[in-house]
Amino acid sequence: MTKGKILVTGGAGYIGSHTAVELLNDGYEVIIIDNLSNSNRFIIDRIQKITGKKVFFHQEDLLNFAKVEQIVSAYNNIKGIIHFAAYKAVGESVEKPVLYYENNIVSLLNVLKVMTLFGIPNLVFSSSCTVYGQPDILPVTEEAPIKKALSPYGNTKQIAEEIIADTVYANKNLFSIALRYFNPIGAHESALIGELPLGIPNNLVPFVTQTAYGLREELKIFGNDYNTPDGTAIRDYIHVVDLAKAHIVALNRMISGNNKESFEIFNIGTGNGNSVMEIVNEFKNATGLDIKCNIVGRREGDIEQVWADTSLANMELGWNAKIPLREMLSSAWNWEKAYRADSKQEKEKYNLNLEHFKNLMALGFSNNGFNAEEINFLVNKAKDVGISVANWDEWMKEVSSFTFQIPQNMDEREEYLADLVHLAMVDGKVHQTEYDMCLKLADKLEIDAENLDKIIKLIEKLWKNDA
Ligand code: UDP
Repeated sequence: MTKGKILVTGGAGYIGSHTAVELLNDGYEVIIIDNLSNSNRFIIDRIQKITGKKVFFHQEDLLNFAKVEQIVSAYNNIKGIIHFAAYKAVGESVEKPVLYYENNIVSLLNVLKVMTLFGIPNLVFSSSCTVYGQPDILPVTEEAPIKKALSPYGNTKQIAEEIIADTVYANKNLFSIALRYFNPIGAHESALIGELPLGIPNNLVPFVTQTAYGLREELKIFGNDYNTPDGTAIRDYIHVVDLAKAHIVALNRMISGNNKESFEIFNIGTGNGNSVMEIVNEFKNATGLDIKCNIVGRREGDIEQVWADTSLANMELGWNAKIPLREMLSSAWNWEKAYRADSKQEKEKYNLNLEHFKNLMALGFSNNGFNAEEINFLVNKAKDVGISVANWDEWMKEVSSFTFQIPQNMDEREEYLADLVHLAMVDGKVHQTEYDMCLKLADKLEIDAENLDKIIKLIEKLWKNDA
């Protein structure tokens, strides 16, 4: 007997994947809808590996209501939804507000629509302490006034909470708990899942671990002239597994009817504030590694200090953050190492050289063979397999402007396709999105789909034998 089915949107993401693990451990069945825009399919396999349980996974965009409706209709009696799927980069939201409002708000509306349509009663929503801006009183309680959002991202969280409040008020069969997260860091103790920042990380801890690994030259500390004891900004860092557990507690509360109101809001943090300098020093203590730091100017939109008053969550939910800072940082480091070791193994299996990669990209660029998302994927994979270029932006410009002659020789053409297939493999397989990309290139190289499939099968087999 399981405790019932829970739909997790964005369940392949950083917080979503850790929560899926905790849900499965708590006896729930987990259905995940994720478009993999900021994650990777291997994370689903890893969730299953950690728990020894099956996940029902659907790669779909929450914006596509018809598809979401179709997926949900295939399951009956879903007990609740945990809604993570959203964009979260503050800086990007300032540059692309419409994208952020559309993605974060419409996906929530679609979630609320399926809940009403299929009678799914309970929603746990990922909110953020960003709704408080710079609070006047610290630690900040849930009663603190909501300040004008400093970014479209922050505003989507404020608007989302209002939408949920209105919807729950209008529908007596709906209940929701919004969790206002402080700063989640760290990774599962197995080091099988963790944060997968695409490109240059915005957040402090992934930047620290990548710097420690040697992928970044130095950590830039954004400002040491804040009104704090050491001058650097203060946040409430919480281990992602502690945060994940708060979701299970919130869900159980609604399912067992213990919620006091139809919409409740809780701060989820540790109640402690740490400065950027303290994080760096604790990382050094936890790992014995040195991090080169450089103090630079403040980052626009950053607040000076915030940490949570967690008494409401402690009392009402009976939940407490337990994992200490040192363990948060050592788990982040263990994940970084494990993830890079996997990539290195990938690199050893496949020695793609820069010249080859350059030609491959040029083939993809001409006649728009690859779209921007695919190019991004390839560049990230290339970095993963160890192709380093000092300035990727300039390099991309250069490559996109030259035309590459398609080789006369069929063997050579197949070699190029095989190179792409290798790059497109994720956890030993070529999945749909990457397959479409290979198909486009095959078309250009005048290699038919049947031959492409043969190449893929061969490489998947090689990969399996190597593993
Ligand atoms: N930070 C930094 N260097 C970096 C990234 C972040 O000094 O490369 C600082 C940032 O200014 C903030 C703290 O680290 O004071 C946490 O930043 P993060 O982006 O992780 O979280 P948020 O600002 O959303 O709380």
